[in-house]
Amino acid sequence: MICINNVSKSFGKELVLQSVSCRIERYTPTVLLGPSGAGKSTLLRCINGLVTTDSGQITIDNVALPRHPQQLREFRKSIGMIFQQFNLIKRVSVIENVLCGRLGYTSIFQSLLTRFTNADYELACQYLDKVGLYDKRLQKAGQLSGGQQQRIAIARALMQRPKVLLADEPVASLDPKTSLVILDLLTKISEEEKISLVLTLHSVELALQYSKEIIGLNQGKIMARYNTNKTNAKELYSVYDQFEEVAN
Ligand code: ADP
Ligand code: MG
Repeated sequence: MICINNVSKSFGKELVLQSVSCRIERYTPTVLLGPSGAGKSTLLRCINGLVTTDSGQITIDNVALPRHPQQLREFRKSIGMIFQQFNLIKRVSVIENVLCGRLGYTSIFQSLLTRFTNADYELACQYLDKVGLYDKRLQKAGQLSGGQQQRIAIARALMQRPKVLLADEPVASLDPKTSLVILDLLTKISEEEKISLVLTLHSVELALQYSKEIIGLNQGKIMARYNTNKTNAKELYSVYDQFEEVAN
């Protein structure tokens, strides 16, 4: 479904992605695994055009990522994203944060008051219910716990009705128990809503538990690809070992 072909990216002199090629299959939760600085976030950001590639091509359902800003904006509606730090507007209500996921579908000429339709509100309530936060919809987002804030971000992403959901270290700021709850929710929702989930994770164990495919990234290169059923933690740790050998 997502086809990454020979993608390279430098920041200044640093080559962050070096001819990366891989395919991410539809409805197959896929984890990008690798040490800090491997280029995981950059690759994820290339997939939705937040970072422009220097060379190579990315296609989603055989459609190439457009370069033109207007077309890119349109394309991006189908790609939701959630982040380690949740990226919410903390001073506004939970439901307003969720509605923000719908902004790509409203006209910039509409005032904020008339921007959202009743259908938007209904959808927001439906997704808030799905992530278990309907009762908290009128509270300020910043007053909620980290796990709850990530649930808001998930509901906001769902408002886009995305085909693909990119999650960049979605549980890195959460305690271990909450991390499991959030990953359970993410994998369950992506299955129910027919969304293809691509995550970056720090933990080998969580990657094994929650994904079907694992792509090992190190120093901007794909080191290996693993099917979760046919690998184990020891093998996956080698993705990190190689980095240390080079670094030493
Ligand atoms: P990871 O997510 O695997 O930790 P990143 O993709 O965030 O890795 O970063 C890979 C490398 O690219 C790092 O060395 C980082 O400093 C660099 N990098 C990432 N984003 C930028 C940016 N916007 N400007 C300059 N350097 C960047
Ligand atoms: Mg990262």
